Amino acid sequence: MSTANDDWLAFDRKHVWHPYTSVTAPGPMFPVRSAHGVRIVLEDGRELIDGMASWWSVIHGYAHPKLLDALHRQADALAHVMFGGLTHRPAVELAQRLVEMTPDGLDHVFFADSGSVAMEVALKMALQYQHGIGETARKRFVTIRRGYHGDTFGAMSVCDPDTGMHQLFDGFLPKQLFIDAPGCRSDAEWDDLDLSSLRVALDEHGHEIAALVLEPVVQGAGGMRFYAPEWLRQARRLCDAHGVLLVADEIATGFGRSGTLFACDRAGVVPDVMAVGKALCGGMMTLAATLATGRVAEGIGRVGPLMHGPTFMANPLATAVAGASLDLLHEEPWEPRVARIESELRSGLQACHGMPAVADVRVLGAIGVVELHEPVVMADVQPRFVDRGVWVRPFGELVYVMPPYVIDTEDLARVTGAICGVVSELPAPRG
Ligand SMILES: *Cc1c(COP(=O)(O)O)cnc(C)c1O
Repeated sequence: MSTANDDWLAFDRKHVWHPYTSVTAPGPMFPVRSAHGVRIVLEDGRELIDGMASWWSVIHGYAHPKLLDALHRQADALAHVMFGGLTHRPAVELAQRLVEMTPDGLDHVFFADSGSVAMEVALKMALQYQHGIGETARKRFVTIRRGYHGDTFGAMSVCDPDTGMHQLFDGFLPKQLFIDAPGCRSDAEWDDLDLSSLRVALDEHGHEIAALVLEPVVQGAGGMRFYAPEWLRQARRLCDAHGVLLVADEIATGFGRSGTLFACDRAGVVPDVMAVGKALCGGMMTLAATLATGRVAEGIGRVGPLMHGPTFMANPLATAVAGASLDLLHEEPWEPRVARIESELRSGLQACHGMPAVADVRVLGAIGVVELHEPVVMADVQPRFVDRGVWVRPFGELVYVMPPYVIDTEDLARVTGAICGVVSELPAPRG
């Protein structure tokens, strides 16, 4: 390795924040030179098979020629222009496709530049709608524990109160109403008692609640939990009975990841507001969107314009790449791929069942989770995956994968093999 190379890495360690890190106590860091297909190439030439799809987003693999082509062509024509008072084809055509592919009735689209902002907009929509229809007392949200909705303050206020950094920002963060996370697993028999926490919350506080905010069927970064679609169906009914909107955060689950195009589809539920992001651009650009039904849009309109407008709203490069990514979902059908990944994750992670460190193993769609009894020590575990030639990044007690849909059987076997190998080396919990 050259000195110049070491210099920039030293600067990184001292001066640059990475997600959820400290510049005073940085962890291990692996410099990346390039990436193609399902492979991340490190500066030293080592290649890692990607099990994370760069946090759910790179569903078609890195450097897909069709996405690159869309990006290049759009850059030549129009890289950016403000969206206030001006419009362009890539954004409108993308909006049209989102309206067509999302659950029926979500007819209005707001483009944001990240998932967190899409969730802020979703919360604003719900508040502004309730205001618009005269329900001015509805200023709070009810949400389920173990959720994750982003890092900005509004989104953070509906994240899990224990793992979601609430204490650090206490006094500033709005206080929302938390109900028990659904206990019924997606494969278990439905038990109506599972809804009691939501019932009680709505009976007691329904009149002050603007919306129920949740990740449908799959709770992502807050715990990687899967729950019964029936819970979602029943929650939809209860929301309607109490004049409470349903806000679905499909930022992680959208575009096929959980085995249906959207996780709401698994329950046949149409939310009033829905946020998408992450895989929207196939991981090449940053873009998210919030969709709302006509009823919500009309209610919002009664009190005037929707009060949000990012500088880079509906960026032409991002919206053009997103259009190409949605094309690819059809041209290289996601459904059989996700189904194959699901069955290979099930068999590949089978060996983890019963290992001393393992509490649970679960798979849904192209998501595989090995839950441990105790949190991993990242500085210890991360290099073990890299040594085995795969990129898997656990958090807390969760070792999980959601690979690009294009991963083949052999590469996926290496990823699951590495997980089983690393997890088998971890000790049983201390008493
Ligand atoms: C990642 C994520 C977000 C936040 O998206 P960012 O683009 O990181 O701001 C919100 N909700 C869910 C469910 C997510 O997985």
